[in-house]
Amino acid sequence: MFADVIVDIQHEKLDKIFQYRIPESMEGKLEPGMEVLVPFGKGNRQIRGYVTGISGTCDYDLSKVKEIMEIPERAMEIEAKLVALAAWMKENYGGTMIQALKTVLPIKQKENAKVKKRLRLLLDEETGRRQLHYYQEKNQKARARLIAALLDDHVLEYELVTKKLNITTPVIRALEEQGVLAVETERIFRTPLKQNQQQTRRITYTPEQRNVISRFRQDYGAGVRSTYLIHGVTGSGKTEVYMEMIRTVVELGKQAIVLIPEIALTYQTVMRFYRRFGDRVAIMNSRLSAGERYDQMMRAKAGQVDVMIGPRSALFTPFPDLGLIVIDEEHEPTYKSEQTPRYHARETAIQRAKMENASVVLGSATPSMEAMYRARRGEYILFEMKNRSRMQRMAEVYTVDMREELKNGNRSILSTKLRELMEDRLEKGEQIMLFLNRRGYSGFISCRECGHVVKCPHCDVSLSVHRDGKMRCHYCGYEQPKITVCPECGSRYIGEFRAGTQQIEEIVHETFPQARVLRMDMDTTRQKDAHEKILSAFANEEADVLVGTQMIVKGHDFPNVTLVGVLAADMSLYTGDYRSGERTFQLLTQAAGRAGRGERPGEAVIQTYDPSHYAIETAAAQDYEAFYEEEIRYRELMGYPPAEQLLAVFVSGEDEVLLEKGCHYLKEYILRVIRGLSGREDARTGKTGVRTMQPAAAVIGPASPGIDKIKDVYRRVIYIKAEQYELLVAMKNRVEKYIEINSGFDSMRIQFDFNPM
Ligand code: ADP
Ligand code: ZN
Ligand code: ZN
Repeated sequence: MFADVIVDIQHEKLDKIFQYRIPESMEGKLEPGMEVLVPFGKGNRQIRGYVTGISGTCDYDLSKVKEIMEIPERAMEIEAKLVALAAWMKENYGGTMIQALKTVLPIKQKENAKVKKRLRLLLDEETGRRQLHYYQEKNQKARARLIAALLDDHVLEYELVTKKLNITTPVIRALEEQGVLAVETERIFRTPLKQNQQQTRRITYTPEQRNVISRFRQDYGAGVRSTYLIHGVTGSGKTEVYMEMIRTVVELGKQAIVLIPEIALTYQTVMRFYRRFGDRVAIMNSRLSAGERYDQMMRAKAGQVDVMIGPRSALFTPFPDLGLIVIDEEHEPTYKSEQTPRYHARETAIQRAKMENASVVLGSATPSMEAMYRARRGEYILFEMKNRSRMQRMAEVYTVDMREELKNGNRSILSTKLRELMEDRLEKGEQIMLFLNRRGYSGFISCRECGHVVKCPHCDVSLSVHRDGKMRCHYCGYEQPKITVCPECGSRYIGEFRAGTQQIEEIVHETFPQARVLRMDMDTTRQKDAHEKILSAFANEEADVLVGTQMIVKGHDFPNVTLVGVLAADMSLYTGDYRSGERTFQLLTQAAGRAGRGERPGEAVIQTYDPSHYAIETAAAQDYEAFYEEEIRYRELMGYPPAEQLLAVFVSGEDEVLLEKGCHYLKEYILRVIRGLSGREDARTGKTGVRTMQPAAAVIGPASPGIDKIKDVYRRVIYIKAEQYELLVAMKNRVEKYIEINSGFDSMRIQFDFNPM
């Protein structure tokens, strides 16, 4: 037997794995992730390495292969645990060991140390308050916001202020010139942020919060490690609960990782963690350079940090004694990696926790189908938090049937109800958000008269119009010519929904010439910092209306927004994939939650051509349970995850004819493997030869995935559906071998995506 061993894992060039012979005395004892001592180089210097895989064959000249020297006795190193996790990821998500290692290991890169800036308040409390008052009087909203924040915490990170508090550089400069604050520079690794005041305020937990906290404490104290799912409405106090759980494990000398989607990591949230845990908290975000990220990881490894907060990649923080992983907004699609290995942070967190004896806490106002399904089956412990901690009311939601508007002669994209409410808010000087529910590529055809949408007869997802004028299913490849007359009602008002944010902006201008409108979408945010500029202008109330795509729905708190309009709520229903109902429900619930964050109650208007669609009806009623019941029935009926498991095999290549041929052979091969597996299944049940048995898996496609050609590379996808995840993993391994030994696939690239999102 031979072992693949990586050495020197701290360096950028993580592309070499060496093979060593396993001495007989170690056979059966080695596993991926284990530390070994190996001879290295000409002088056979003894160095440490990590086993990444074990095989029966050797790719090198056998006479030159060296032997592993020994397995060190001491406990598993932090890196060894991460290498073992990488091995699990490679097996369960596909790709190479190198790709998996690069995902989980902190890798050192040479670069100049970045200088980090801080803002420090120079005024005493009383003068500061007077200055705040002065800015408020003069209606200088940004300055007021900044000084108010500095009065709360005398030192603030520059980045936090510009990116999360939506304050622009000129405002900071102005306050610097007025002697209100000083901009200081420090090197981040050496002197982490110190907060003057740690949280002293004690809050009285609600009964719902107490229940969750005490159950967690009890379990944890008794040595029980589990996965918990907190289903709690926005404002129910989930974050307070996370912090209390984190305190529990930190007091035991352990560490915690908190995953929060970057866009939801608001100024308020960051400050809450800083106040509670002081400089024992590190924040990771995508704006950190590779070097800064490495520094943060090393601080964590050295035991200088108890809590790491960040997006998906923070999951791989090399803590010496990990006790807890929290995943907030667990349903967010950003938790799925778009690069190989296409891992899901939720599943990977649960695996890491299992390997390191930690617990996992998932939280969401709209839990993913996967998480709720598992919770209902008893795999996770479920907590419900149905009340807002401070008894704020939820927004009032109205649904408007746009087919009725058309019948009544209103062809505008704004319904009468929404127009009336907008008029009211503009008069009162309150703010409005208009959200165009448009997501990525969609080109579905719908009837404006009756709401009918053309769907695939096999897959029950909407068909998409392609440039050649045909309508296709992205799963199975079914196609039909584009239609011009509604098959349901005969109307000619059928076609692609084309309105974009720019058009909406124009319509608002025409309808309300006095209104100041800002637009936020792909076009207006292309420039660096454009995001922050738009959001800060809106936060400063320099505009009455913010028009945008889903990037405006998440994360931002605007207390003066009391009306949210959702235009074309249906659009996300017909993106041609099985998750569109779930995404729609989540987006609409979030959008409605944007209205009425401050003192005043909010209202939301959902405009739709299909008001009786369950995703829209249940979102308007803010009824998660009802949504879940309907959705899980659909998933079970169609065999989509989480009821069954789905593996997407993406094949791409520059020669379309070859690609088609390759896909054909690949599908034939997959079908053969399935028949073999089903046959064996028959044998096991003693019914050999009986072919009435259900096949173990089904194959769908090949089809064009959404966009069938990017930069002259053609793409196809084959889906495999099965009840057992393990079967899909086995299938992935077989397919990998098959394409490796068939040179016909040399010009093609194959990637795997398990339960694609
Ligand atoms: P979620 O994470 O569920 O949206 P948060 O934990 O952010 O909820 O709580 C919402 C707001 O209510 C926060 O300002 C928080 O400080 C406050 N809060 C939470 N729990 C309590 C409580 N028991 N008493 C008073 N205020 C609370
Ligand atoms: Zn129709
Ligand atoms: Zn189909």
